[in-house]
Amino acid sequence: MLYESTRGSLDRVTGARGIIQGIAEDGGLFVPCRIPSLDLPLEDLAEMSYKEIAKWVLGKFFDEFEPDEISQCVEAAYDYKFTADDVVGFSKAGHGYFLELYHGKTAAFKDMALSLLPHLMKLALKKEGENRRLLILTATSGDTGKAALEGFKDVEGTDVVVFYPEGGVSQVQERQMVSQEGKNTHVFSIEGNFDEAQSRVKEIFADENFKEDLAKEGIILSSANSINIGRLVPQIVYYIYSYGKLLKMGIIKAGEPMNVSVPTGNFGNILGAYFAKEMGIPVGKFICASNENKVLADFFNTGLYDIRDITRKFILTNSPSMDILISSNLERLLYLGSGRDGDFVKNCMDSLRFMKCYTTMDSEEMNSVFGEFQGGEATEEETLKEIKKLWEEASYLMDTHTAVAYKVYEDYRERTLDESPTVIVSTASAYKFSEAVLEALGLEKQEKGFRSVEALEAYTKVPIPYGLKDLEKKAVIHKGKIKPEDMRTAIKESVILTNI
Ligand SMILES: *Cc1c(COP(=O)(O)O)cnc(C)c1O
Repeated sequence: MLYESTRGSLDRVTGARGIIQGIAEDGGLFVPCRIPSLDLPLEDLAEMSYKEIAKWVLGKFFDEFEPDEISQCVEAAYDYKFTADDVVGFSKAGHGYFLELYHGKTAAFKDMALSLLPHLMKLALKKEGENRRLLILTATSGDTGKAALEGFKDVEGTDVVVFYPEGGVSQVQERQMVSQEGKNTHVFSIEGNFDEAQSRVKEIFADENFKEDLAKEGIILSSANSINIGRLVPQIVYYIYSYGKLLKMGIIKAGEPMNVSVPTGNFGNILGAYFAKEMGIPVGKFICASNENKVLADFFNTGLYDIRDITRKFILTNSPSMDILISSNLERLLYLGSGRDGDFVKNCMDSLRFMKCYTTMDSEEMNSVFGEFQGGEATEEETLKEIKKLWEEASYLMDTHTAVAYKVYEDYRERTLDESPTVIVSTASAYKFSEAVLEALGLEKQEKGFRSVEALEAYTKVPIPYGLKDLEKKAVIHKGKIKPEDMRTAIKESVILTNI
């Protein structure tokens, strides 16, 4: 299986090379040159464990790895660190089936892919005979950073540098990152929002001079952001698993559709669902749920991707991991949806860069993809209301991101009367966003995030995830605060000076 760039201009690379490189040299994202079919009777999924499905799916996308090697990666990634019965949780509550992806070490769904990515990278380095040091460069809206730090901590031959927007993450998220141990971990807060951090990181990836400087030190750049194909593939697995679960529970028969509702920021998670469908899983609608930064909801309703200042402002909300205006992975949908038209994608991306908007309305092929997606948004207030409602009706506790997905699904259901079983993708533990969840439940707001965690446990009796316990007592190790223009210097100082 080979991978090609969404901007169409370059030769194909192996999966291993794609994982190491993170982003294509022309600035595009890697996609497999064809999407493999599942190649299994759907009925079989009902009897397969999470890890069995993971091994099967990874084998299809990375066929240059031996089955044994893949098996070792999967076993090492999804071990005791995941506390749910079968890696992920699956609970019925209200009108939804909640796919709980937050039972890993950092209590958010990023663990699903970032527990696996370091193992895939090590394997990829071996396959490619690459012996330079790998520098994992990551911009985070809060959850990717911690999951990447945990995943790569003390992994030989790697350094990991994380940038997060100052004031743009919750107190729990921040402490999780700045207390990170491991000699190869480096964390900085930057002035600016997530989009700024992500754009700068992308610029650095395209900066040949900078890369040459690093190469002289024997270092190559890679990314743990969801633009890395090694992150996307693990995110296909849980959609296939969900279908098996619904079969096993007798909710659907093989061939009948399920919907998915996904709280969306960078478009990586929901893209996993799209790939699952392309592989052969019957998915009815992809419900793409946004918070008040609703650029995607508007896009799916109009075909216009528009982040011009006159149209919208960036807003900090109570679902901060979705406070994003530039959804990187949408580029992959544009590529696949347009029949792999690299020129079309390149034009859209150029237009986004220079005019801050683009339209897909002229592309007939894209219009047919649009029929499968439903965009919707939930305000902060609606999000809180939904948390309270489901807690009171079903004693089920959701975090703010999951609540956005549930609210947008409820609106969809009311509007369309579509009763197909719907998987609500649950991306974080409520404890990661306790301040907002407390407020939702009508409890007194605590001044600090840490107090809120305790208060939430006292009230709900839902256990605190082990990764979030005693966070307040953890020492702050990383104190760097920098300006966006100083990111290159910070990187060099972190990885070159410390490795001498
Ligand atoms: C990252 C994240 C999201 C958004 O996922 P994308 O793949 O960026 O669309 C939603 N919820 C939480 C809790 C997250 O950490």
